[in-house]
Amino acid sequence: MRAMSEAAMLVVEQFVNDLPEAPAKDLDGALELAEELREEAPEIGTSFEGLLNTVAVCSQKAVNNSGPGFMAYIPGGGLYVSALADFLAAGFNRYVSLAAKAPALAQIEATVVRWLCDLFDYPPEARGVLTSGGSMANFSAVITARKAKLGENFSTGVLYTSEQAHASCAKAAYLAGFPRERIRMVPTDERLRMDADALTAMIEADRAAGLRPFMVTASAGTTNTGSVDPMARVGEVARAHDMWFHVDAAYGGPFRMTEYGRRLFQGIESADSITLDPHKAFFIPYGTGALIVREGFRLRAAHHVEADYLQDTDGLDEQIPSASEYGMELSRDFRGLRLWLPVKHHGLAAFRAALEEKLELTRYLYDELRTTPGFEVPLDPDLTAVPFRYLPERGDPDAFNRRLLERINDSKRVFLSSTLLDGHFIIRACIVSHRTHRDRVEEAVRIIRSAVQDLLAPDAAAPLEQPAAR
Ligand SMILES: *Cc1c(COP(=O)(O)O)cnc(C)c1O
Repeated sequence: MRAMSEAAMLVVEQFVNDLPEAPAKDLDGALELAEELREEAPEIGTSFEGLLNTVAVCSQKAVNNSGPGFMAYIPGGGLYVSALADFLAAGFNRYVSLAAKAPALAQIEATVVRWLCDLFDYPPEARGVLTSGGSMANFSAVITARKAKLGENFSTGVLYTSEQAHASCAKAAYLAGFPRERIRMVPTDERLRMDADALTAMIEADRAAGLRPFMVTASAGTTNTGSVDPMARVGEVARAHDMWFHVDAAYGGPFRMTEYGRRLFQGIESADSITLDPHKAFFIPYGTGALIVREGFRLRAAHHVEADYLQDTDGLDEQIPSASEYGMELSRDFRGLRLWLPVKHHGLAAFRAALEEKLELTRYLYDELRTTPGFEVPLDPDLTAVPFRYLPERGDPDAFNRRLLERINDSKRVFLSSTLLDGHFIIRACIVSHRTHRDRVEEAVRIIRSAVQDLLAPDAAAPLEQPAAR
């Protein structure tokens, strides 16, 4: 055991230490490697070291999503102490889904849920569940809202979210049994925030048609652009129509730790439920989302099903909730430790400071790009995503920006992604990783500018105008 653990630890330690200087993407040969892994299960085992090497090599051949240059999608950095939490959790392998089986460990998970509730000033009776990610949290939110507002016969129920919401919001509704024609996409305003007046009009039209509007999902940071819906207004509309008010804060949630986030999300504390994704802006490794519910008993009412073979396990709920009664899963990993350990070890102040830094870096990137001639940076960022494109004097902007993105990513120092805004191809940079600091964002700006220059004049590289030093 000792030899295997030490070997594994050394490999991971090296890997994590190398993250900052590792290429932002390293996919050469990745498909060939994948090909070699298509094999039958072996009858006879092989040495751990060889297998460890295989896993390490496979991990190398990937987009470096934990490195400082990863500004695509919504990055998740992966705190090392959380990786150790996973090792400890699996090493001890205790059963934590039923509080009676490991009360103190179940309490660790309940404590983590309570911390998330505290972040939104939720009352003591709030409850929650740690899920595998934001998609599962949005799914459980729909199930909870459906049970609370519609009961068992829900075929006339209608849900609302914005055109800019994450795809998992509509997917959750669909998987929960609502046909697509009961899922409404509310238009957004010029800053891509949900239009609360349009929401009201849609709800009233549906009511007049004999349908039952029951749930509205607002986004506390859309994945596309980081836009934040007007929480207080959407909440009012939901309450006025006796609907469940859910907020998808998978991306933005932890920013409520900052002064700025507190102002930005004003009204979120009145939400009936909130989706969070600690594997994004809490920087922990993949596999942890969360749903918190203001009236905690509603989460349990929607998910708990009695079973004879579990009759000797109840009775603790008043003191320590059993995770299995609040979510989809029965047996599962001890995911609470993944968040408990880093929060206890680093302290919330460290997380707050890291998020404040991300907000500043975003502001810097936004200012640099919008003051560079030829760039269009359409949205003053609410959070940490900066969608932009370059408008060439000639030719198709979509084709140009597609090539521009490729060229930027070929630098292997930064990795950006793209989206569509108004049907146009837009590059987006999103700064969330705790490993991304000022030096890498400055480098990103240089790379973006020189990539434009290269595309405009492949041979004679005419220098772009530099903005004034700041
Ligand atoms: C990432 C994200 C999700 C989905 O979360 P997963 O953890 O990937 O399942 C949902 N909503 C928003 C706003 C997100 O950013």
